Amino acid sequence: MTSAETDPEATDALRVLQRVFGYDSFRGSQQEIIDQVVAGGDALVLMPTGGGKSLCYQIPAFVRDGVGIVVSPLIALMQDQVDALRTLGVRAGFLNSTQDPGERRQVESAFLAGELDLLYLAPERLRVESTLSLLDRGTISLFAIDEAHCVAQWGHDFRPDYLALSMLHERWPTVPRIALTATATEATRAEIASRLNLEDARHFVASFDRPNIQYRIVPKNRPEQQLLELLRGEHQGDAGIVYCLSRASVEKTATFLTENGFEALPYHAGLDARTRAAHQARFLREDGLIMVATIAFGMGIDKPDVRFVAHLDLPKSVEGYYQETGRAGRDGLPATAWLAYGLQDVVQQRKMISTSDGDEAHRRKLAAHLEAMLALCETVECRREQLLAYFGQSGSTSCGNCDTCLSPPESWDGTIPAQKVLSTVFRLDRERRQKFGAGHIIDILLGKNTAKITQFRHDSLTVFGVGTELRDTEWRGVVRQLLAKGLLAVHGEHGALQLTDASGEVLGGQREVRLRREPKQTAQPAKAAKPGRTAPAALSEDAVPLFERLRAWRAAAAKEQGVPAYVIFHDATLREIASRSPSTLAELGTVNGVGENKLAKYGQQILDTLAA
Ligand code: ADP
Ligand code: ZN
Repeated sequence: MTSAETDPEATDALRVLQRVFGYDSFRGSQQEIIDQVVAGGDALVLMPTGGGKSLCYQIPAFVRDGVGIVVSPLIALMQDQVDALRTLGVRAGFLNSTQDPGERRQVESAFLAGELDLLYLAPERLRVESTLSLLDRGTISLFAIDEAHCVAQWGHDFRPDYLALSMLHERWPTVPRIALTATATEATRAEIASRLNLEDARHFVASFDRPNIQYRIVPKNRPEQQLLELLRGEHQGDAGIVYCLSRASVEKTATFLTENGFEALPYHAGLDARTRAAHQARFLREDGLIMVATIAFGMGIDKPDVRFVAHLDLPKSVEGYYQETGRAGRDGLPATAWLAYGLQDVVQQRKMISTSDGDEAHRRKLAAHLEAMLALCETVECRREQLLAYFGQSGSTSCGNCDTCLSPPESWDGTIPAQKVLSTVFRLDRERRQKFGAGHIIDILLGKNTAKITQFRHDSLTVFGVGTELRDTEWRGVVRQLLAKGLLAVHGEHGALQLTDASGEVLGGQREVRLRREPKQTAQPAKAAKPGRTAPAALSEDAVPLFERLRAWRAAAAKEQGVPAYVIFHDATLREIASRSPSTLAELGTVNGVGENKLAKYGQQILDTLAA
């Protein structure tokens, strides 16, 4: 069926890749990692989401004698992971707190009888003596420690359980261990290595680039409308995640999208656990649902066909932003990461930091995270280049697939407008009675006669009405950028503006201020963009109806088996089937993602669907 069986040179690992998983070749450093573990060595693997980490332990578990033990904190997803493996013909099971004793005993005896290739365990299981002695009685091929950053993050729920994993090495010194994470920073890697005794392991650090994700950051005007334009214009019918900061805005946005004809579900910590689980399950199982969520949602969600991640509020750090956007496009097909960001975001976050609990050092850390995020938002250079540089991967050049590459923003000399803003803040500050927010300052510059202006007699200031050369939104852009550059600060809980040490240089004319010109169009796709639209648009005209038929068949099959649609086949696989339209099983077997087991199980149904 696949070329493997006729190729005597193929390694065992490659044969498994082709026969079981239906893929032609390894990606990136998968081969080296697998070789290392198959040979009995330890490995520490840093690879971005969607990079293909799972195969790095699944294939060695297959090739080596015994059962591969996979430690994962994501018990809500274990059932899906195991279902996905079983569809491939892999013998997999799991042990966690959701099972009743009967189910657990069944899995345990399968393990002891050597009838499993992979056994998934929640980390807390390994702190129970009975589990350890169970493992002693079987044959273990390897330990895979997934989401290994849990061991390194302070305050992480699973941290104590993960710290206890350092005993694996002492108890089973000859069993190879492979730790995996998508968290990129050097500090995290060093801590994982030391906490899990993996200093002597081979470290594999993949590029963190996600070339199929198009990064776009737009000025926020009417965020809900902008989101709607994005969805209507580029992501009709696609699955995606919309992140909001607060529970209230999650609810509001979900309702708004539903009223506008999109299927959207809310997800936040204020919903009870059952509703959350039900919404998550629907998002995973059904095609084309939108999850509107706080950052409580997403860890370990390995749905491959999330086509967009939209942020309606500014993330608190670049790490968070990268992790959240990384949930898009795991299948390697084009996906969009879209963030709307405005003056209010900056004011609000600066305010939150200045009033946050915790000591000065903690506040400084939060501020540094925000600085880096703002620098990304305000850059006129390639977003991807800046992101990768942040994660210590320098040397990349313009990517051609982010908003700043696709339509380079202009910069302009904003020194005079900056001086106008700063001197207004300075004059108000001199009154010492009260500090004012951005809105009032802009009203003064525009010479508006608001009640507040009359009340404080601000129409008598010399700066009153000196700023009619810019529109309100443009002034907001100026203030936002001054805040982002540290030329203005936010004071107290009302978001009042005040000068910083650096403001004086601008007021005194010693410092030029370059500003980014706000694009007129906001939610429109960048002109030269590769089509953000995925499968159907990328297909030929003939293939589109086939693809739709295959999707409908897949939805029915998934429903019947109670598994997520992507467990049956990924979009990428259906797309390839639709464009090649194979007429025999042998031909179908050469499609990427069609392994032996799936071919036997679904092959005929697919041919029938194509012929219908
Ligand atoms: P990660 O755990 O690193 O986020 P996964 O292991 O879920 O990534 O893999 C991401 C996607 O890429 C999956 O759909 C997987 O089947 C696919 N994939 C992984 N390795 C290969 C390969 N060598 N060839 C083709 N597809 C692959
Ligand atoms: Zn770029």
